[in-house]
Amino acid sequence: MIQVFLRFYEELNDLLPLPYRKVEFRKDLLLPTTVKDLIESCRVPHTEVDLILVNGDSVDFQYLVRHNDHISVYPVFESMDISGVTRLQDRPLRELRFITDRPLGKLTGRLRLLGQDVEYGLNFSGMELVDKAVNSGRILLTRNRQLLMPSRIKRGYLVRSNYPKDQVVEVLHRFDLLGSIKPFTRCMNCNGILIPVKKEDILHLLEPLTKRYYRRFRQCDSCGQVYWKGSHHEKLKKYISNLISDLA
Ligand SMILES: [Zn+2]
Repeated sequence: MIQVFLRFYEELNDLLPLPYRKVEFRKDLLLPTTVKDLIESCRVPHTEVDLILVNGDSVDFQYLVRHNDHISVYPVFESMDISGVTRLQDRPLRELRFITDRPLGKLTGRLRLLGQDVEYGLNFSGMELVDKAVNSGRILLTRNRQLLMPSRIKRGYLVRSNYPKDQVVEVLHRFDLLGSIKPFTRCMNCNGILIPVKKEDILHLLEPLTKRYYRRFRQCDSCGQVYWKGSHHEKLKKYISNLISDLA
């Protein structure tokens, strides 16, 4: 019998069964196992984990646990400097791209409004969605922790809140996106890019009042939806500035 001691830190505790939260607890194993499988047996997907210390030394997910190991598991802190140890999540320099699970439609629209590149995985479910995320190099956002357990998923995030407003804050915070918010650059419907267009080129698409009162327009390069600074624009601007001040 292999006996190990585990302690999870910070928001990883939200994911644990109650008796395991914020305490060191013992696990008895019949067979040697990787630390990844051990952590996921506690219902914490590996995508939530950025640092594992075993008896004080950092290890990767493939580490085989040994009798009497004391294992500390830390979440992803984008802004925390823990250089010099094995951070387990990649930090690509290029822009982040996301794919969302079916129940996250509202989150999808709001992230697009903020200029984030988000594909909505409406037509995919379960492992199909996992494959789609892996093959497209997109970060999987989901409320289903089982989808974040397969090893082939390298980056993902388990959305905690039920409420779209809070979900947006979670994602911006987790991926440190405050500096890369570009409002009104993407189509909320389809994730296409919004391009400035001449009014005369889209006149046939406008209602009479819009035609009369607005001069500047943008059009989605993918679905053709036309956007202008109508009454909803002010509401959205207020939403965005509130969001940014909440985060800052
Ligand atoms: Zn579009």
